[in-house]
Amino acid sequence: MSKLRDLAILGGEPAFSDSEKLHVGRPNIGDRASLLKRIDRLLDTRWLSNSGPLEKEFEQRLAEMVGVKHCVVMCNATVALEIAIRALGLTGEVVVPSFTFIATAHAARWQQVTPVFCDIDPRTHNIDPAQVERVLTPRTTGIIGVHVWGRPCDIDGLAEVAGRHDLKLLFDSAHAFGCSYKGRMIGGFGDAEVFSFHATKFFNTFEGGAVVTNNDELANRMRLMKNFGFAGYDEVVSIGINGKMAEVAAAMGLTNLESLDEFIAVNRRNYELYAEGLRGVAGVKLIEYDRGEENNFQYVVTEVDEAAAGLTRDELMRVLLAENVLARRYFYPGCHRMEPYRSDFPDLHLPETEGLAARVLSLPTGQTVTPDAVGLICDIIRAALGRAGEIRGLGAPPEV
Ligand SMILES: *Cc1c(COP(=O)(O)O)cnc(C)c1O
Repeated sequence: MSKLRDLAILGGEPAFSDSEKLHVGRPNIGDRASLLKRIDRLLDTRWLSNSGPLEKEFEQRLAEMVGVKHCVVMCNATVALEIAIRALGLTGEVVVPSFTFIATAHAARWQQVTPVFCDIDPRTHNIDPAQVERVLTPRTTGIIGVHVWGRPCDIDGLAEVAGRHDLKLLFDSAHAFGCSYKGRMIGGFGDAEVFSFHATKFFNTFEGGAVVTNNDELANRMRLMKNFGFAGYDEVVSIGINGKMAEVAAAMGLTNLESLDEFIAVNRRNYELYAEGLRGVAGVKLIEYDRGEENNFQYVVTEVDEAAAGLTRDELMRVLLAENVLARRYFYPGCHRMEPYRSDFPDLHLPETEGLAARVLSLPTGQTVTPDAVGLICDIIRAALGRAGEIRGLGAPPEV
């Protein structure tokens, strides 16, 4: 890592060398000795999966932390969403935001339920209950709200719509582990909520996910489903799938839980440094978090306003890429513009989602991103905007 001299896109040396390349979603890893001790023990006992002691302990810890009756951990959040969708008996259509990771839509579609996309509130980036209401049909059986960037969506608004139309309410809370809404931890809302513990999330179990709920019967159904429908050694009572979490993943989860506060503190430190470094930069606006709530600060998301910045989001992304900073344009271009949904709904136009998808740029953060690196990234952004004319003059650089 060097001081910024000349922008790499304009012929200078990259600020970060190839080996220092920065990524969005580089995994956070807790105490190695503690993890290895757990792995040693699980190897000794040869209990590698199927309701092992680590899985049970991990589920208990999570349920306590979130303040829910049941936590059912699974192999990943996509399968957890599918199992929740199926266990809730969703059929026909479910309303989902298009501004989300594709798994939200795919999980429904994989269960033969049509995801019907609705637009967002551009201020919060989250599903807009008023827009939900507009796309309901007699076939609608549920709503899947997503807490994008960990900022809770309008839970009360969605609950009101769901209640009035007798719809199930599920939350894709993949981003929102450790966040709160009106003083209560995310996880206890709606019929159920789903967390992701994928490697790229700030808290990971290598791969993993969980459904949390206060509904006893639903939790039971999901426990059967995630283990082929087995109710006893030789007794299968319903159709199921293999959605189990491996013990080694639970070992990682328990270990990373011990460092959860530290992960959040690092994310928060980086977020504040970005906020400071980008203060007064016209055209690059950092999203804000409600300081009255718990936040995990895992995403440093900016909105690039071309008119004020002098550069498009994609141009700024290319500037950063040339410096070996891999910023990401989550969730471009929006689920409704990816297959199979683009073909399913060729005429669907979601102006707020499409506008936002053209503006957002997510910057690297987490354990692997140092304060100096954040400072340098902010310097690059400032320099890029200062030399916007020259960068634009380069014409269309290669596709990223
Ligand atoms: C990561 C993510 C998922 C999928 O999680 P996996 O554990 O990788 O299956 C689902 N929804 C959203 C919003 C996500 O960000």
